[in-house]
Amino acid sequence: MLNVIIFGAPGTGKGTQSQNIIEKYQLVHLSTGDILREEIKNGSPVGLAAKKYIDDGLLVPDSVIFDLLFDRTSKNTNSKGFIFDGFPRNNVQAEILDEKLAEMQTPISLVLYLDVTEEELFKRILLRAQISGRADDTAEVIKKRIEVYTQQTQPLLDYYRQQGKLIPIAGMGTIEEVFALIEKEIDGYLGK
Ligand code: AMP
Repeated sequence: MLNVIIFGAPGTGKGTQSQNIIEKYQLVHLSTGDILREEIKNGSPVGLAAKKYIDDGLLVPDSVIFDLLFDRTSKNTNSKGFIFDGFPRNNVQAEILDEKLAEMQTPISLVLYLDVTEEELFKRILLRAQISGRADDTAEVIKKRIEVYTQQTQPLLDYYRQQGKLIPIAGMGTIEEVFALIEKEIDGYLGK
């Protein structure tokens, strides 16, 4: 299996590039943000519990995320692989993910880190807000989400660097330019 983590701050284009990756490499897209938004839309108890964290720009408790995510990994063991988008977001999540994947005998292949300046993040998210209608795409919540990213998620760069899996991708170009860099890395990994 090809298991890719697409990593980066909110607004770096993880969702957009994930769409390109799943089309070309036929991976199963696991976006914890999308899964949570779907739960909220369906009015499920999990969605209701998660909403208050999301609206405040905070991380949803790990146990909720694990239940939602690992239900989906275990249902897709015959796929070509997974793209993890918006997960892991802290050390505990990264360690549990490694344990789960070890049980499935299919470790993380690559961690693609979309590197974008903070100024550009704000611009992109505020632009997205005009079309997304997302309650957490307001200036105040974005500021909180970037702060949470810096404190809890960014340290994972070291975790994956130490595993030799971290691949920085210059994320400031156009969608096509960034995807070309991603393709080059994945194809290189696959030996193409
Ligand atoms: P995203 O669409 O990835 O930016 O996620 C939107 C919001 O969902 C985040 O600000 C968090 O509140 C929540 N969320 C998404 N993924 C996770 C995760 N792996 N762990 C905790 N909370 C998450």
